[in-house]
Amino acid sequence: MRKQSGFTLAELLIVVAIISVLVAISIPVFSSKLDRAREVTCLANRRSLYSMVCADYLSGDYPSLEAAFHGIYDNNKSEFPCPSGGTFSWVDDGDGKGHITCDKHDGSGGSGSGDSGGDSGGGSGDSGGDSEGTTYGDTDIKVQDNYWPKQSDYDSNIYGNITVHAGGVFQYTDGNYYIVVRDTSLTKSQAASGPGPSSETCAYGWYNTEKMTGRIITYSDDNEHKDVHRGDICQVGDDYYVFIDGEGWVYGPTVESSRWYKIPN
Ligand SMILES: [Zn+2]
Repeated sequence: MRKQSGFTLAELLIVVAIISVLVAISIPVFSSKLDRAREVTCLANRRSLYSMVCADYLSGDYPSLEAAFHGIYDNNKSEFPCPSGGTFSWVDDGDGKGHITCDKHDGSGGSGSGDSGGDSGGGSGDSGGDSEGTTYGDTDIKVQDNYWPKQSDYDSNIYGNITVHAGGVFQYTDGNYYIVVRDTSLTKSQAASGPGPSSETCAYGWYNTEKMTGRIITYSDDNEHKDVHRGDICQVGDDYYVFIDGEGWVYGPTVESSRWYKIPN
């Protein structure tokens, strides 16, 4: 009997096949991590630029935030680079507020209401730049500062309509908080009219967005019912529900589940 040593051809082929599969899987994962890293760096640079803009505006060097942005950025572009080669611009949000966008990374850098960025952030105010974003009231509900479509979203979207997804909680420019209660495809004019009760958004789909009332309802047991208004929030364990039906004496989400919309965690 011949003594076997080393690998057979079949074994070698199997090893080569496994290695090719691993390489094929790891390359896309690696490059998407790189993209994410570039995006985060871009965001960090926009945030630091935004802080400088605010500081220089507050110290009276410029008549507006936008003027401060141009004063600083236009002359020192290399100090605030986007790793993907993007260029930053100032977007006016009205009321003298604004935020910084990157033409390669779309999301906002810093906003007039405080911290914001990427897929979360913003909301009620001056939270730290590196936090996960702000929350709604005394809850763990995340406020998504960039949830409601802006003009620039339409400019960069060749299909025209922008979908906002159910569960998105955001603060609109009217200062109020809203939640999207079903996936909604918005035309530019629907988005421009805002999420409020008199807007086109509500007129064509009454329950698409709901304004938070600021009330947090709690129930002591399943037999209890309370005077509840559309937009009230109820907490059950770690979950939050918003009341989306007509107001009245209502049981909690565990009993009248169809009248409450669970906000995704
Ligand atoms: Zn960028």
